[in-house]
Amino acid sequence: MARKIGSRYTAHQILGRGSAGTVWLGEGPEGPVAVKILRDDLAADQELVGRFVQERTALLGLDHPHVVAVRDLVVDGNDLALVMDLVRGTDLRTRLNRERRLAPEAAVAITADIADGLAAAHAAGVVHRDVKPENVLLDMEGPIGPGGAHPALLTDFGVAKLIDTPRRTPERAAGRAPATKIIGTPDYLAPEIVEGLPPRAAVDIYALATVLYELLAGFTPFGGGHPGAVLRRHVTETVVPLPGIPEELWQLLVQCLAKAPASRLRAAELAARLREQLPGLAGIAPLEVDEPDSDETEPPAAPEEPAAPARDTPRRAAVSLVPGAPARDGANRDTHTSMRVPAPDELAGGARGTARAPRAAGAPRPGSARHRAEQRRRRLRLTLAAAATAVALAVAGYAATQSDPPSPTAPVRHGPGTGP
Ligand code: ADP
Repeated sequence: MARKIGSRYTAHQILGRGSAGTVWLGEGPEGPVAVKILRDDLAADQELVGRFVQERTALLGLDHPHVVAVRDLVVDGNDLALVMDLVRGTDLRTRLNRERRLAPEAAVAITADIADGLAAAHAAGVVHRDVKPENVLLDMEGPIGPGGAHPALLTDFGVAKLIDTPRRTPERAAGRAPATKIIGTPDYLAPEIVEGLPPRAAVDIYALATVLYELLAGFTPFGGGHPGAVLRRHVTETVVPLPGIPEELWQLLVQCLAKAPASRLRAAELAARLREQLPGLAGIAPLEVDEPDSDETEPPAAPEEPAAPARDTPRRAAVSLVPGAPARDGANRDTHTSMRVPAPDELAGGARGTARAPRAAGAPRPGSARHRAEQRRRRLRLTLAAAATAVALAVAGYAATQSDPPSPTAPVRHGPGTGP
């Protein structure tokens, strides 16, 4: 059913649903467009609407072949809509779900495109803040590039910022500082955000390096388990090399996943360095990486314990964090949720309920598959022991009923050698 958006646009059919709203295939004065209609609760927020209008210039000013251009912002009654260029294709998450891992050449070509888009945004003073495969669109009508990759475009600029800007909370109105919240998708969050620092361009580089790692490995370097554990890994753990990854590419990843934002490359340099590596990656098959154990519910590492290498720490690929966000097929790295910034002791593992209990050397990690298997074996042993006891008692009872009941006055019968 067609739906009018302002006086200039008509939305025809739903293209996809995201955590911030629904994207429609629409029609405008200049032809087909994509219209993202923000969620009702966001659209009903007067402050957000105000900011939405204020941000117009920054959002509309970004014009780059690897950025999905925002053409218009419409506030119409209860609707708040972003009118964007229509990208005919799919998002990177869908491709990743289908292929699980990409060949290094295609993964690097896609990442280089997004790095180019980020370079333009950063030069314009815009930080994306929510770089992840869901926000990368592949233009299937564009020319095929290295590794058979179609051009990649970054979308959703400014949406994270719109939703994240501090509101006039009751604390703020009373002159008190409100609790700082973390907004974003945990798997891709740079450590400085977890530590409560303001997000600068380097957070996008960290998130993009996480995406590249995921394209190569099939899972993110620090994802899996409880969101708090994911956040803490960003701060405390280091990545270990992916088996078979070309050394130069690995060095680039390590540099862009550095904990210190200043150590990461700038977007333009990252794009250039990635493109330099493309010829050497031609023809390399997707990496053979162990699939993470999907049942893993490993609690975060205690500080005394050395960080576990990613390869030995199988993890669930991602966790969903957004309360009330519409579920999307395979898209469980949702965004725009808010979490409290963990206190330093929580990050260090000292908070109650987050520290891992010490374990003996060689003992399985609590919650690990081996640990659960041992628990199952132990339960089985206990059940068998209980069953054996029950059988023994039943046999003894049966034997007792077959012999004469001792008279109350008769002496107690003892076993051989024990009697008088
Ligand atoms: P959100 O940011 O709210 O989570 P997304 O931007 O990821 O939502 O959009 C949801 C889906 O809509 C995407 O996965 C994609 O399939 C589709 N989509 C988004 N923007 C466009 C666009 N400009 N052109 C075509 N399809 C789009």
